[in-house]
Amino acid sequence: TVKRPTSVEEARLLLPIVTEEQPIMEAILLNLVVIICGETGSGKTTQVPQFLYEAGFGDPGGDNSGMIGITQPRRVAAMSMASRVAHELSLTSSRVSYQIRYDATVSPSTTIKFMTDGVLLRELATDFLLSKYSVIIIDEVHERSMNTDILIGVLSRVLKLREQMWKDGKEGVKPLRLIIMSATLRVSDFAENRTLFPSPPPVINVAARQHPVTIHFNRRTPSDYVNEAIKKASKIHSRLPPGGILMFLTGQNEISGVCKKLEAMYGKKALEQKSKRRQAGRTLVADVEPEEVDLGPAEQDLAFDIDDDHADQDMEALDSEDENAGLDEELGLNLDESDTPMHIVPLYSLLPNDKQMRVFQAPPPGHRLVVVSTNVAETSLTIPGIRYVIDCGRAKERRYDVANGIQAFQVNWTSKASAAQRAGRAGRTGPGHCYRLYSSALFEHYFESFSQPEILRVPIEGVVLQMKSMNIDAVVNFPFPTPPDRYTLKKAETVLTHLGALTSTAIIAPSTSEVSMATIGGHITALGKTMALFPLSPRYSKMLVSGQQHGCLPYVITIVSALSVGDPFLREEALEAEESSDDENMDENLEHIKSQSVKAKEARRIRRRAFFESQQTHASLGKSSSDIFSMLSVAGAYEYAGGGHKFCADHFVRPKAMEEIHKLRGQISNIVQVNFPGVDTGFIPTLRPPTDLQLKVLRQLLTAAFIDQVAVRKDIVEKNSSGGKKYASAKGVPYQALGIPEDVFIHPTSALSNSSPPEYIVYHEIVRTTRPWLKGVTIINPV
Ligand code: ADP
Ligand code: MG
Repeated sequence: TVKRPTSVEEARLLLPIVTEEQPIMEAILLNLVVIICGETGSGKTTQVPQFLYEAGFGDPGGDNSGMIGITQPRRVAAMSMASRVAHELSLTSSRVSYQIRYDATVSPSTTIKFMTDGVLLRELATDFLLSKYSVIIIDEVHERSMNTDILIGVLSRVLKLREQMWKDGKEGVKPLRLIIMSATLRVSDFAENRTLFPSPPPVINVAARQHPVTIHFNRRTPSDYVNEAIKKASKIHSRLPPGGILMFLTGQNEISGVCKKLEAMYGKKALEQKSKRRQAGRTLVADVEPEEVDLGPAEQDLAFDIDDDHADQDMEALDSEDENAGLDEELGLNLDESDTPMHIVPLYSLLPNDKQMRVFQAPPPGHRLVVVSTNVAETSLTIPGIRYVIDCGRAKERRYDVANGIQAFQVNWTSKASAAQRAGRAGRTGPGHCYRLYSSALFEHYFESFSQPEILRVPIEGVVLQMKSMNIDAVVNFPFPTPPDRYTLKKAETVLTHLGALTSTAIIAPSTSEVSMATIGGHITALGKTMALFPLSPRYSKMLVSGQQHGCLPYVITIVSALSVGDPFLREEALEAEESSDDENMDENLEHIKSQSVKAKEARRIRRRAFFESQQTHASLGKSSSDIFSMLSVAGAYEYAGGGHKFCADHFVRPKAMEEIHKLRGQISNIVQVNFPGVDTGFIPTLRPPTDLQLKVLRQLLTAAFIDQVAVRKDIVEKNSSGGKKYASAKGVPYQALGIPEDVFIHPTSALSNSSPPEYIVYHEIVRTTRPWLKGVTIINPV
């Protein structure tokens, strides 16, 4: 009864997993837990839910009437996979749906539900038996995200419970099945972990239909990998046969910058201009000269060099490859110039969803697809038509120092496993090539074999609260695939106890069972239960629960939404990358200025001034007493203006972040309304600016939420100082933060950094770059 479009039927036949349908379904029906390993692109995510659907899972009349649930570590994957599977099965988005923190298409008739792993974790807190589901697929487990690790641990227990209840003949209870899917063969942490699964689940390997990918290492490892990547793309584009290029870089700014530069060199417009000039009779230089390409102001020029003379040994990769592959004939004569335009598409998680989807669309005829991506494209999304991969060998990762709470976003070498995944992306359609912008010696000696599981790198108090709300009190005994150390767990419990979410473990009741409780951690309190209802970090939930005085709740809701989504403000360095898209609009206002470059310079100057003015406006809410108020200010203004891209451009904020803050705000208001009957959330679309009294209360709430993150100006605490030094600005003024052995500083982008530095502050986070910087700073009210 399944009707698939003909094109889908044909494409499916090429997927390796489709030939394995029978053994896979047999294993699933005979075992409660099955592990499936298969290369990215083999069809796991799109096909396994369809196998289940065809076998009657999710059919209301059948034996396995519950929904088919599939988790994804990333929102974009949950959304795009739901729409793809709906398309393949010719079903509506209310039958094959998705649910992410900000959005959902689920309905009572949903049969297949894609969701982020966080969504399923929160469902467990209200329905531990997951009674709506007959089968859960945990996807992309090789990434070892914290949520997937925890989910597997929790689900191993839920399975047991459901099975037991079914054996006991409980009315309407059927066993739950679990399918674990990985893009790598390394699943021993799950398959051979006896605490997790006492009898090892079967592992099914889907034979990869992978074409050979030739790996080319650079002879040397250039530190400027961004320019190296541009050079490599240029060479591939002008010298090698058609086929998409996928470039792995580390972050948004890098990616926007590279896209802009490639556009200026090989975009359709750039090539048209070039050919006009050629027709005008100008002789063309063999290579693109930097001057021909408008790369922005001189001082920001990349000074890169497309000239092969300077490209030394690493050229050999391309050269020798040309010979080996016998591509010479195909290459034609004019190797230096390409008339083929590039179709350049960025891909990173902060990009708006509709723009992310562009990677799935075929490039316009006659264009070469060039995708410039973070490691989103490593395994979550399979981009069609990629033949060349350029791998910078690095990834940006959040590192968290458990001992002192300092976070750092560091660009680190990826692992050998990641490098193999990235290379594999070139071999889906046919034989491919992977250019690694680092040497094989570096790869051998400095790359770890595998990346570290996230649970060992990030704060875990949110997860511990979730577990406690599922009545998992003995968190140390939890079947983690890779357990965090006891100290980390203890610390998370301490924070939660401070916040009032857990009973204090010091209270020892006479009964023996209670005594052991004391060693394994506290119980969840009523307050903790309420806090666990919110899809937020426990600190923020606490603010909400205690923020109901003086009509502050609407502001608290907005603040925690903004803190959860993250800083929406564009920073100075991001201006540069944004500029390309605005140049056209600027043109009209500045027609009187003749010269292109003067025009561009003037536009940039005006924009820069508007940028600083906007920053100041928002910082002025509460007289620069908290960075968090800048977020409140801009979020309020956004609501007042009714949102929109123009608002975001005028206020220098990221549209996607603003949209998410807006949605989260609505969602939290709903949760408040449902759970605190009678409380007025004051959820009116437009927010009036808070009064002075309200600002004061908000500062107190922020102080309470971050009470373990206090910093004191150093001259106040120093022994031999009389204290009370006079400073004109906070720049370079050292602070001492509780429990941190080194000086810390207020970040230059802070609203507090230009005025005289306060004595006591609380901070949202410490991020180390050149120094340990305090971000999201709030002055502690003198009481
Ligand atoms: P896996 O989960 O094993 O990595 P997927 O099921 O995601 O594999 O992908 C299987 C195939 O479906 C790939 O060849 C991919 O190109 C194709 N595909 C997935 N999503 C889309 C989409 N939105 N549009 C077109 N093709 C898609
Ligand atoms: Mg997949």
